[in-house]
Amino acid sequence: MPVSASQPPLDDSAKLLLQRDSELTKLNLRYEKQLTQLRVLQEAILFANQIKDRQTMMKSVGELLIHRLSYDRFFVIEATDKGFLPVAGIGFDQPSFTTIVAELSQTDYRQLIVPIKSADLFVDQETAAGPSLTKLMNVRSLIISPLTNRHFRGYLGIGLEQPLESFIAQDLEFINLLVGQLNVILENIASLAAMEAKNSQLNQLDKTKTTFLSITSHQLRTPLSVIKFALTVLNSPETGPLNKEQQDLVREMVKSNNRIIGLVNNLLNIARLEQGRLVVRPEPLELNQLVQTILEEIKERITTKGIQVQVVMPKKIHFIGDHTLIYETLMNLLTNGVKYNKDKGKLIITGKQSANQVIITVQDTGIGIPAEDQARLFTQFYRSQEASSLDPEGVGLGLYTTRQFVRLHGGDIAVSSMEGVGTAFTVVLPIGGPPVNGAQAVTSS
Ligand code: ADP
Repeated sequence: MPVSASQPPLDDSAKLLLQRDSELTKLNLRYEKQLTQLRVLQEAILFANQIKDRQTMMKSVGELLIHRLSYDRFFVIEATDKGFLPVAGIGFDQPSFTTIVAELSQTDYRQLIVPIKSADLFVDQETAAGPSLTKLMNVRSLIISPLTNRHFRGYLGIGLEQPLESFIAQDLEFINLLVGQLNVILENIASLAAMEAKNSQLNQLDKTKTTFLSITSHQLRTPLSVIKFALTVLNSPETGPLNKEQQDLVREMVKSNNRIIGLVNNLLNIARLEQGRLVVRPEPLELNQLVQTILEEIKERITTKGIQVQVVMPKKIHFIGDHTLIYETLMNLLTNGVKYNKDKGKLIITGKQSANQVIITVQDTGIGIPAEDQARLFTQFYRSQEASSLDPEGVGLGLYTTRQFVRLHGGDIAVSSMEGVGTAFTVVLPIGGPPVNGAQAVTSS
């Protein structure tokens, strides 16, 4: 076939083809390298994010880079006013990384490093006089980049024992990307450390508060008991008759004293719960008898408010539980059922027994609990607005401790309530008492 004037001769075409082919191969290699770098970067970020300690994180990233990208050196140094400090150095043998960092801190070397503002390439110039970073690190090429954020000021570097001839731009870009990600991770590590420090400070404060609570409540109990005893003696016929006014005063004092005793007991229970010192002492209990005892104790309040009480349960429901804790639980639910009831309202106490559970429901026809408040009902100090005006003396600790007591038995408590209609609390307890390996009260909510 004749060769037209416009067509290059065959050997020229072949040359062109070969040239294209070599360009394509180069391009392919470049993309492959870039892809590998991106994969390694992704991998490095993934696990670096899980490491909480700066030094370990840097070392692990360095090891990964050397292993996967065939770099020969990796280092991170911290810049201080006095010089540089080693953070992580991988691939250094002789001289050791610490020696190198000490050298870098010398003025001559510092003058080479400090002006670096973004990832920069240093190549070996065998003949050059003066300090040489490549020579110091025993490499032919070196990329150094600043690694600086709000919590860290320093430099990151990678080195190759071979001259870095091809794809320099890719390596510089990769180091820039890496440094960007490490800055984010370093910020996260610092924030986490700050949060942990704050958290441990708060825990310490919380412990101090609990100890304070425990000591003061404990100290208050004795004088309060003395006052209680003194008032009982004062009110007894043997001490001498009191006139009507004196009797009223003593009654008021007994009431106030009992209120403080109740509050102190509540605080003491909370301190014990928070310190994990509240021990459940299981013993055989009978529900009907417990309910009747409590009803008798709060008879005056029931009568004053004209509450109609109904107890619906078999004659005997036997189960295992801590007498004090179950008594307090029922006392709190029944007194609330009276306190937050309407005048002449109803209070229905239901008890049921299944093969392995006791189910107790305390239902009233009172003010109810606003739907939006129900999630906070069992937290410390929660009180609804209406409850606060109905009974200004309450403190909002009863339901919190009640739930903890029930949970310590391996049971739970639930509420169903409608504002203005009434409330029903249901307590479910294991009939055989707390589980053998111990149940956990959740003190945080
Ligand atoms: P206190 O009665 O001292 O406020 P509790 O922890 O026993 O403390 O109760 C917390 C809050 O829960 C009460 O202030 C009230 O708002 C609400 N609450 C508890 N029981 C009832 C109930 N039976 N009916 C309506 N609200 C109730």
